[in-house]
Amino acid sequence: MDPRVQPKNIVVIGAGIVGVATGLHLQREGHSVTLIDPTPPGRGTSFGNAGSIAVGSVYPTGSPGNWKQVPKMLTDPMSPLKIKWSYLPKAAPWFLRFLEASRTSRVEEISKHLWALSKDAMNSHRRLIEVAKAHDIVRPVGWLKVYSSQQSLDKTKHEREVMARRGVTFDVLNADELRQLEPGLSPKFTHGYHQPENGFVSQPVKLTEAYFAKFQELGGRWVAEKVRRFAVGPNGVEKVVTDLGMHACDAVAICAGARSHDIVAMLGRRFPLDTERGYHLNLDVQEGPELRRPVVIGDHGFVLAPMQDGLRLTSGAEFAGVDAPPDFRRIYRMLELAKEALPGLKADVTREWLGFRPSTPDSVPVIGRSPDHSNVYFGFGHGHIGLTLAARTGELITDLVADRTPDIDMTPYRAERY
Ligand SMILES: Cc1cc2nc3c(=O)[nH]c(=O)nc-3n(C[C@H](O)[C@H](O)[C@H](O)COP(=O)(O)OP(=O)(O)OC[C@H]3O[C@@H](n4cnc5c(N)ncnc54)[C@H](O)[C@@H]3O)c2cc1C
Repeated sequence: MDPRVQPKNIVVIGAGIVGVATGLHLQREGHSVTLIDPTPPGRGTSFGNAGSIAVGSVYPTGSPGNWKQVPKMLTDPMSPLKIKWSYLPKAAPWFLRFLEASRTSRVEEISKHLWALSKDAMNSHRRLIEVAKAHDIVRPVGWLKVYSSQQSLDKTKHEREVMARRGVTFDVLNADELRQLEPGLSPKFTHGYHQPENGFVSQPVKLTEAYFAKFQELGGRWVAEKVRRFAVGPNGVEKVVTDLGMHACDAVAICAGARSHDIVAMLGRRFPLDTERGYHLNLDVQEGPELRRPVVIGDHGFVLAPMQDGLRLTSGAEFAGVDAPPDFRRIYRMLELAKEALPGLKADVTREWLGFRPSTPDSVPVIGRSPDHSNVYFGFGHGHIGLTLAARTGELITDLVADRTPDIDMTPYRAERY
């Protein structure tokens, strides 16, 4: 606790990993925090990810030459990035910004902004893990990407060059080295690279729940309500109005994942947030090789992650908005490829899951004070790395609420950039 900080009543909207980590930091600072979310903590998109605390995740989704993939994204059922035809007109403004952010010079710049956040992501989680006594959930096993040919690995050349320029630690591996790390993988994988500093959250919902349990122990509370609007007075937001009540507050943090732009719009600001939908299948393995860490099958852009409750197969991104029904056909096709990647795998599917990555066009999250209301803070738009950056986001928002200058320049994360 910082003795100079004046305790406030703070509402945090959204109880995903970002909202819960933020709530825990604020509560530890001595504030009185109410988390508002109709869904129990960690049961939104934070439930179903691949579990990587991706310290070296500095390469944005939009990369040079992306536009050449658009026809494949529209027509190829196995493309790692997929766009639903009917969603294209609605998503067009977001895509134009995405393509602008995909230029080589912008990617270089964006990677610096992502590195400033992600280089301390593991340390930030370690601090909360210590507080929440959640040590058994996160394993220091890194993140492995594998490819079946030199040509396929070469497609990541630019990404690896950018990572090297930022100072990300990774080791390029030959077939023997891959085999030593993951003996169960098919011998068809002959190339790859390993990021040893990444942590693996072996059951993502348990990490959110552990942070939430500590938050409650410190006096924080959760109300299962849905935010509908705000009551604004001369000093900013005075009340958060939900479907079931009204919550007076001194400050608000908006951490509502892929729905954050709807909530920001209630305060009169438009923000170009879309969603990269992602699926997973949970596999109850009957027979077959075991994995020691999450593995990206780079040729097809899916991940196999050995979670506590089964082997999790997670997909790349689908652009279809938050309201379209799930379409599990593509992830089931990937299941066949997963069986090729792990020869001998026999498994029953025990869960079909769809989540909504909250995605900005430049892959940079929005973390900062609202330009319109001085007692409103934003913490959303973490896209593919919300689990990674949750604890760091909570630290930064807590600094801003206390009027402390954060240890990094916050300009790149401001909402005003759009
Ligand atoms: C398949 C897949 C794999 C991924 N793998 C990784 C990975 O390995 N590493 C990584 O770092 N990230 C990964 N991610 C991304 C990560 O899961 C997300 O970035 C992260 O979960 C976002 O967290 P959040 O708290 O912002 O959102 P959420 O977890 O979605 O939480 C937002 C909450 O806001 C609530 N909410 C919405 N509207 C309202 C309202 N009106 N009132 C009150 N509450 C509201 C929702 O109910 C929800 O609970 C992956 C994502 C997917 C889909």
